[in-house]
Amino acid sequence: MILSSILLICLIDQFVSQRTYCQLPDPIFNDGIKNSTWGDTDPSDWNYLNSDEWKSKVVTCGASFQSPINIVTSTAIKENSFPAINYILKTSTRNYWEAQRDYTKELEGEYDFITAFDISNQQYKYYARQFHFHSPSEHQVDGKNFDLEVHFVHQAVEDGEQSCNDIRNKLTVFGLLFQQTNTASDYEVFKPWFDDTVNKVTSFDMNDFFQKMTDKTYYHYAGSLTTIPCSQTVNWYVFTSPLPISKSQLKQFKDFIDNDDYFPSQSNNRPIQNLNGRTLYKGTASFNGVTSLPVIEASWSIIIQMVSLLLIQFIFI
Ligand SMILES: [Zn+2]
Repeated sequence: MILSSILLICLIDQFVSQRTYCQLPDPIFNDGIKNSTWGDTDPSDWNYLNSDEWKSKVVTCGASFQSPINIVTSTAIKENSFPAINYILKTSTRNYWEAQRDYTKELEGEYDFITAFDISNQQYKYYARQFHFHSPSEHQVDGKNFDLEVHFVHQAVEDGEQSCNDIRNKLTVFGLLFQQTNTASDYEVFKPWFDDTVNKVTSFDMNDFFQKMTDKTYYHYAGSLTTIPCSQTVNWYVFTSPLPISKSQLKQFKDFIDNDDYFPSQSNNRPIQNLNGRTLYKGTASFNGVTSLPVIEASWSIIIQMVSLLLIQFIFI
C-alpha cells in the first residue's frame, strides 16, 4: 500500500510537473560591463532615455536582426503556413500573477500550448508564459505608431516531440496593437494589474482578444527581444488590425509609465530598428475559439500509468 501511494504521488507529480522551457542564449556584455539592469545609477544600466546606447552595453543589441521594426505592408510576402490560435483552457492550473518589472506591467503564468511556425516553415509547440505592455506601440505599420502594444510571449518547450537544440526561435511573440476610441469599454482582464490594489488574477482567457479582432492579418518576421538583452530568438507575429481601448484604461497605463524618470514622454517603446534584408511575411491567422484540453493524449498516458500501478499492486500485495 505504501508502495502504491508513493507511485501514485510520483504519478501526480509527473502529471503536474514543470515544463522544460527552452532557455534563451546567455547575453554577451561588452568589455567592462558584466550586467545591465534597469536604472540610471550605473553606466551599465539601461532605460528608455539611453536606448541608443544599449548596443554599447550588450553586444546583441547592435546586431542585425533586431526588433521592433517598421512594417512596410507593401513589401510583405504572402505566407501559407498560418499559426492556429487556439489557447487551450485548462482551468485547474490557470493561475496568473503580476511580475515585478520596472519597465512595464507584466502578467506571468502558465497557459497551454499554441503551435507556431518559424520562418523556415517548421512548426513547433510553444506555451504562453506572460504578457506585458508598451505605449506607444513598438512596431510601426507603414510608419504609424499605435497607442498601445501588448506582447503575448510564448516559449518553446523540450518534450518527446521536439528538442530545444532544433528550435532557432525559442520564443514566439504575438504583438497586438490597440488604438484609443471613445466607444471602447474597459477590458476586465486589464483591470487587476492596472489597479495597484489587486495583484493576482485567476481567470484570464487569451482567446478573448482574438475573438474581438475582426481582421486577423499578421506580419511575421525573425527578430529580437525589444529590451535588454535583445536576444535574437523571437518569432514575431504582429497583428495589425488594432483593437479598441478606452481613454481611461489607456491613461491608467500611461500613469504608470509617467511615474518614473526613465520613461521620456510617457513611453516605454524601443525605437524601430533596421530590417537589414530580413523577409517580412504576411498571413491571416486561423482561430477556432476556445477549445477543450486534448484529452485523448493526456488520458491514454494516465490510463496506461494507472494500469501499471494496479499491476504493481497485484504483484506486491
Ligand atoms: Zn515587449
